Amino acid sequence: AAKAAGRNRVRVFSPELRSAVEQKVLVAAELREAIEAGQLVLHYQPVLHLPSGEVSGVEALVRWQHPERGLLMPCDFIPLAEQTGVVVQLTRWVLAEATRQAAAWERAGLALVTGVNISAAHFGTGTLVADVHDALDAAGLAPERLVLELTETSVAEDPLRAAAQFAQLRVSGVEVSIDDFGSGFSSLSQLVSIPAGILKLDRSLVAGIEVRRSESAAAIAAVVGLGAACGMRSLAEGVETAGQLELIAELGCTHAQGFHIARPMPAAEVADWLVIRRAARRSRRTRLQTA
Ligand code: C2E
Ligand code: MG
Ligand code: MG
Ligand code: MG
Repeated sequence: AAKAAGRNRVRVFSPELRSAVEQKVLVAAELREAIEAGQLVLHYQPVLHLPSGEVSGVEALVRWQHPERGLLMPCDFIPLAEQTGVVVQLTRWVLAEATRQAAAWERAGLALVTGVNISAAHFGTGTLVADVHDALDAAGLAPERLVLELTETSVAEDPLRAAAQFAQLRVSGVEVSIDDFGSGFSSLSQLVSIPAGILKLDRSLVAGIEVRRSESAAAIAAVVGLGAACGMRSLAEGVETAGQLELIAELGCTHAQGFHIARPMPAAEVADWLVIRRAARRSRRTRLQTA
């Protein structure tokens, strides 16, 4: 509609609108420089495999260590990066850094599967598959150690194109997950046609579980069941209490992630956190055996 109107009318930008546009261009340029200057950092949030209770992987979450504004969270710059296309450059950096870190953990004897978030914009470039393989090759990481997280909305934009790239990645051994499932109007038919191996249940589904127990439990059980029927594992996001963890395990979720298990942390803290967790589990088991 704006385009049609633009043909016949002189488009007048209000000063506020204009400054908002200028602001965007400025921040996008600043972000581009920040990537090159090494101001981005990754924090990692552990993922738990519920049947075994072992930590099976981590999700890489980007932060911007801004020289004046401090540590910026993704919500402060990812939307803008997506609108301006800078997110493709950002994602290439995240892929390189996350795979490098995963390979280092592997050499240190920590077998972790690392998740990386991919934006919808990346599908349009046609370089996603090559970008992922470049990162794996440079790091010397096996494709099985990487999971790419995509939201359903990103898949919805161009489902056929997305599905084709998903398929190519999975053939090469890289896992794909659907992120934030259940946060919008999830299309079940689309889910069935997407070749993903993991369904990440949005934390809004998990949040209700202790309050509106039967309804939320029914919703989660249905989604987990559908995923399983499509050969997918299911990961509950945003698990904040012991009660939620227990319930989602009962409902058949195979994996969990959330503040109750651990907050996202710098890479340097992950190994220590794992050692402390394993020691605590071992002493709990010993206590139970000797009790
Ligand atoms: P996401 O992929 O769904 O990541 C999970 C978000 O939920 C993270 O927020 C994490 O800190 C938060 N979270 C984890 N457990 C809990 C919990 O128990 N309770 C609550 N309230 N929150 C929890 P974060 O790091 O702020 O990231 C937000 C979003 O930004 C991510 O959502 C993802 O969509 C996007 N994002 C993060 N890193 C990247 C990246 O490298 N590339 C792209 N394209 N997007 C990213
Ligand atoms: Mg994610
Ligand atoms: Mg998510
Ligand atoms: Mg989420």
